[in-house]
Amino acid sequence: MAADATERDVAVIGGGWAGMAAGVTLAAAGIPVTVFEAARTLGGRARRVALAGATVDNGQHLLLGAYRATLALIDQVHAPGNVDRMFARIPLCLLGPGAFRLRAAPLPAPLHLLAGLLAARGCTLPERLAVVRAFVRWRVARWTCPRAQSVAGLVQDQPAAMVAKLWTPLCLAALNTPPGAASGQVFLNVLRDALAAERPASDLIIPVADLSGLFPDPAARYVAERGGRIQLGATVRGLQVGDDAIAVQVAGAEQRFRHVVVAAAPWQAALLLRGVPAAAGACAQIAAYGYQPITTVYLRYDSSVALPARMLQLDGGPGQWLFDHSAAGAGHALLAIVISAEGPHRSLAQADLARAVASQLRANLPGRMPQSAPTWTQVITERRATHAAVPARAHPPAGHLGSGIYLAGDHTDPDYPATLEAAVRSGIRAAGAVQERL
Ligand SMILES: Cc1cc2nc3c(=O)[nH]c(=O)nc-3n(C[C@H](O)[C@H](O)[C@H](O)COP(=O)(O)OP(=O)(O)OC[C@H]3O[C@@H](n4cnc5c(N)ncnc54)[C@H](O)[C@@H]3O)c2cc1C
Repeated sequence: MAADATERDVAVIGGGWAGMAAGVTLAAAGIPVTVFEAARTLGGRARRVALAGATVDNGQHLLLGAYRATLALIDQVHAPGNVDRMFARIPLCLLGPGAFRLRAAPLPAPLHLLAGLLAARGCTLPERLAVVRAFVRWRVARWTCPRAQSVAGLVQDQPAAMVAKLWTPLCLAALNTPPGAASGQVFLNVLRDALAAERPASDLIIPVADLSGLFPDPAARYVAERGGRIQLGATVRGLQVGDDAIAVQVAGAEQRFRHVVVAAAPWQAALLLRGVPAAAGACAQIAAYGYQPITTVYLRYDSSVALPARMLQLDGGPGQWLFDHSAAGAGHALLAIVISAEGPHRSLAQADLARAVASQLRANLPGRMPQSAPTWTQVITERRATHAAVPARAHPPAGHLGSGIYLAGDHTDPDYPATLEAAVRSGIRAAGAVQERL
């Protein structure tokens, strides 16, 4: 039997971005934590994957300048000067196939967006003015809409070309949910924070380092340097809430804690919290979630490709966004192509999907892609990449559920879709709730 828990014994279950954000916040306050992570690599749904042939991420991620909490914590856990090498940070710029282009102008907000919209290429003046009018209308409405409204409903008066070229791709990228099913309010929240705030908030931040190295790994070092412990390959099998401690069952033994932050993905959290009376309401809400996949297709070519930008919008058939990970002067190219949400691509075998994407790139980027087939391909689909960001989704908030059990995770954010920012904010909130009770 493990020793009795003291008031300051805190466990975090889950070494994803939410769990590590909770760990860092508590460690910074002088509270050493024990983090249990089932996998051998930290990061959860945003992690490094070592494959035969290359080390990539489990899926291409994009951060926004608006991710204040995430960027601040990344800064906190890295040595000074390290962070700049980990990202490519570029001003908002959507470059699409054919002539569609939208670039933020080098002006203070909101003129950067207004001028960028008015100068957008690949659409007519009436189409551009319709987009500007929508922004003005939403701003006047303080970025709110009826709770039940979908993104499709929100943009129903927009020209069809702008729905196809702008709103649908943005909705899929930001909410990972098709516009007909996606929450208009959550979409407006993202637009408000990214596009209606100061100019750097709209910056696109593309990780150059692998995702585990960007935050979870240095976060683990930060926690360990402050007396905490990180246990990898440690799947928590059950929780038993007692009068003065919570017994955490892991690796055939029991460890006792006064406070336990459950920072697992929602379906995993619901399994762990089954039978914990204080979590019954949270479990019922989680049971109603739907999920959406994200597929990343990695293609390597033995010759270099000269692309006009690191990130390009594709025509959606089937790839939606292209990210160029080629090292300068390397003589070969590594590309990541993202396909958000369910779609016809899900019925293709991996090799067929990789072939379809390679031929799409040749069609979308004439003259820029090698004619030869890629020499290495990898398709990674995360089937439950995110919960579906549907209108009026009921969810438990991050924080204290009761009896010393706390909840964190990307699904708990009142404002945001499932994102790194939602995960990090939830971890910080849960850690704050622990501190209030110490
Ligand atoms: C392919 C893909 C692309 C994405 N793209 C973006 C993007 O561009 N921008 C963006 O902001 N967001 C993106 N997201 C969403 C983002 O990755 C997630 O919102 C975020 O990583 C969720 O973090 P989390 O800590 O809440 O949960 P998770 O990452 O799921 O972490 C939970 C952790 O808990 C561990 N765990 C679960 N049960 C147990 C147990 N019983 N014992 C011990 N450990 C346990 C798991 O192994 C996991 O490591 C993407 C997600 C995917 C999958």
